[in-house]
Amino acid sequence: MNGLNENAGEAIKLRLRTDQYDGFKSYTVVRRTLCHELAHNVWGGHGKNRAKFKELNSELNREVLELERRVRDATHTLASDGNVYDPLPPDVEAQAHGCPGGIGTGSRGWRIS
Ligand SMILES: [Zn+2]
Repeated sequence: MNGLNENAGEAIKLRLRTDQYDGFKSYTVVRRTLCHELAHNVWGGHGKNRAKFKELNSELNREVLELERRVRDATHTLASDGNVYDPLPPDVEAQAHGCPGGIGTGSRGWRIS
């Protein structure tokens, strides 16, 4: 059992550890279990309302995935494409900017005059 819904949502319990207690269940398993248990807030059991339960469970999973996609797409990172500032050695950097021999540059290639 991965989760338990008590009294239509009074408490939802999720098992995070693996059955062997050698680690944690994956985020995807825990997320799906949470959606499953949340659907039980509306539709208890898996019997006569099974189709409605499955429909709500699927809707909750779709909404969570859409939310995660939106959050991921709206997140800005400084190195998202792997294109980062990686300075050349000071003398090469200085020559690249028209300073033969690196005169007037510091140890990191920045002009210090
Ligand atoms: Zn269930």
